[in-house]
Amino acid sequence: MNIETPNPDPSAPNGRSTTELFRRMHDAVAQDVSAQKRLDLLTSVIAKHVESDVCSIYLRRPDDVLELYSTVGLNREAVHSTTLDWGEGLVGLVAKSHRPLVTDDAPHHPAFAYRPETGEDKLHSFLGVPLIRSGKSLGVLVLQNTTSRKYTDEEVEAVQAVAALLAEISASGELLSSEETAAVGEMLHRPERLRGYAIVSGVAIGRAVFLQPPAPKHKVFANDVSRESDRLDKAIEELRASVDDMLERNASLGGVSREVIETYRLFAYDRGWKDRLQAAVLSGLTAEAAVEQVKNENRARMLQARDSYLRERLHDLDDLAHRMLRLLSGEPRKNGNAYDECILVAQSMGPAELLEYDRDSLKGLVLGEVSATSHVAIVARALNIPMVTGVSEALERCEEGDELVVDGGAGELHIRPTSDVLETFVAKLEFQTERQAEFAKEKDLQARTRDGQDISIMMNAGLVLDIPHLHETGAKGVGLFRTELQFLIGSQLPSVSEQTAIYKEALLLADGKPIIFRTADIGGDKTADYMKHGNDVNPAMGWRGLRMAVDRPGMIRQQLRALLAAAAGRELRIMFPMVTLASEIDVARGFLSREIERAKRAGKTLPKDIKIGAMIETPAAAWRVGAIASKVDFLSVGGNDLAQFYFAADRDSERVQRRYDPLNPGFLEFLKHMVDRARAAKSPLSYCGEQATDPVTAAALIGIGIRELSMPATAIGPFRRLVRLINAEEISAWIDERLETPQESLRKEFTKFLTARGVELE
Ligand code: PEP
Ligand code: MG
Repeated sequence: MNIETPNPDPSAPNGRSTTELFRRMHDAVAQDVSAQKRLDLLTSVIAKHVESDVCSIYLRRPDDVLELYSTVGLNREAVHSTTLDWGEGLVGLVAKSHRPLVTDDAPHHPAFAYRPETGEDKLHSFLGVPLIRSGKSLGVLVLQNTTSRKYTDEEVEAVQAVAALLAEISASGELLSSEETAAVGEMLHRPERLRGYAIVSGVAIGRAVFLQPPAPKHKVFANDVSRESDRLDKAIEELRASVDDMLERNASLGGVSREVIETYRLFAYDRGWKDRLQAAVLSGLTAEAAVEQVKNENRARMLQARDSYLRERLHDLDDLAHRMLRLLSGEPRKNGNAYDECILVAQSMGPAELLEYDRDSLKGLVLGEVSATSHVAIVARALNIPMVTGVSEALERCEEGDELVVDGGAGELHIRPTSDVLETFVAKLEFQTERQAEFAKEKDLQARTRDGQDISIMMNAGLVLDIPHLHETGAKGVGLFRTELQFLIGSQLPSVSEQTAIYKEALLLADGKPIIFRTADIGGDKTADYMKHGNDVNPAMGWRGLRMAVDRPGMIRQQLRALLAAAAGRELRIMFPMVTLASEIDVARGFLSREIERAKRAGKTLPKDIKIGAMIETPAAAWRVGAIASKVDFLSVGGNDLAQFYFAADRDSERVQRRYDPLNPGFLEFLKHMVDRARAAKSPLSYCGEQATDPVTAAALIGIGIRELSMPATAIGPFRRLVRLINAEEISAWIDERLETPQESLRKEFTKFLTARGVELE
């Protein structure tokens, strides 16, 4: 296998290699001359290499003004005297937009700002590329020509590589004077506020920790090429040995997991990869910079690959590069608990990864793109970890160890907050703790509406650790125990006796309060490596939940066996997920009967009563709820899935999930139809979707006739308070009148309605 393409080296504007240019840049930077001279040398090296009449470097000052620092081709007097405001002229536009700008007629570009002192009147073509580091523009590299030269995409790409290197050395101290480097550092470490979306409310303060730790800091150019070459060789050897070791340690692994490690090994031993790393080192880069360089080249190529298998392998290559950088730095790999109080920052992650982190130190979560009903969000909510999303820039804007404040209620992230901001949030955190203590005091108050309707409040749980919250919140029982979460933590499926012990402990901790065990709903984003199955293009609508159990009963039968054993002598409540047709319940009941027979034959004590429930989470089941109700003892609405299928909007897609409000009158009418039919069938029905976390939605659910709701522990206190302030009949009448309005959401009007009745909404 060779991961090289036929042309391993992106060509520079004039066809000469960028490796050659990097070597010359290295020589310029290595000169023992003043910082200004070094910069001028660098500018002329670039100008010559790319054959442009003008090459200029503008750097951003701490006051956000762009100052001409060096030029070849413009009037020398303009250096340090020509400035442009942020966003002013073509240079300002490039810096502000973070994007390259190409034009062959600069003077007629609408953003052009004329600076007579530079003498640039005769220049027509313009290529400006931002110097980006940590997501910020540190300046602009500009190439200009008197003729109307057209820069090709390849040329722009090559100049971008040069600009990236320039940004790197501006921050590293290898190029600028110490004061100038300090100014760059100050710019990179300013306080920032990013606006995203609220997922789990609450305030968290802590230090940034990345799921993928960033590469350690390193120099870009080497002083001693042969030493670098030795360091590189040694790191490659160590890397290969560590991958071999990983394979040996996991010798028992089979199937897909083994294939993944084998592929990883092939990459580590790839000749082309090693050759390119060595070529980069020979051009004067440090071993670390060479690893980064080759990694970026691979990224660019593989992202264009049509073959999805190749694109997926990108992760392996990035990971390999990462290991190399750690080996080169001599730093051991840190785990997520590097600080006493940390905030985990990642582009995205699955629920299993989150569960691997230490709960005591993990205070907050910042994810680039994840939706409110994704399972990682559900786990974060269950663990009461404040979380924001929609802030992909966070990964670039902050560094490991930076102080962060997550404002989960407002959906904001503060990076390196000022002392004033920090003080405000410390106070908010204290208030939050006090408020929780107040809710705890109200835990035994009856959840009865003003017009005397009793509302049963249940709690959602997924881990045994959640069960004690039952008593702290005063919930009547666990309305949804997501058993699969326990399956996702380990490296293999828990055995029957391990499962029995888990369910037994949960029942013990519940101390007589009922627990509804939902059989494992595997699929969608809920998979662990050991259970990767099939390749559904859309796993949420694929082989999951009861469908998988019907085809491959092994897992569900083991689980039912464990549940029967754990609840020996007591009441057992079991619920099946993703029911679509009533006949699927018959199949599931068949498995249960067989397990009961088996237990009887073995002389085991059975539960004293077994109640069976079905989750209503597909429109097919909701529409025909009567048929399903006739086969079970109770129903529970899985609103997360039901809404995803009703609106045809992937619950895990950040882009579409927030588009449709559960307070859409059509959705409420659809739910009401189901509630009415379940009532006609005399089947108890509860609602356990995460939407009930939002008090406004929960109140509307009461309005359409739902009297039992199951929600995360943190939502219970505010919900009980709400229930005691509202009048269920009044809400029903209000909603009924609006079920057929053309409005797309009742949220605004209904929020007003509730606040007028004294309901406090955060
Ligand atoms: C639901 O779909 O609403 C539900 C409660 O189940 P889960 O979120 O685990 O899919
Ligand atoms: Mg569901």
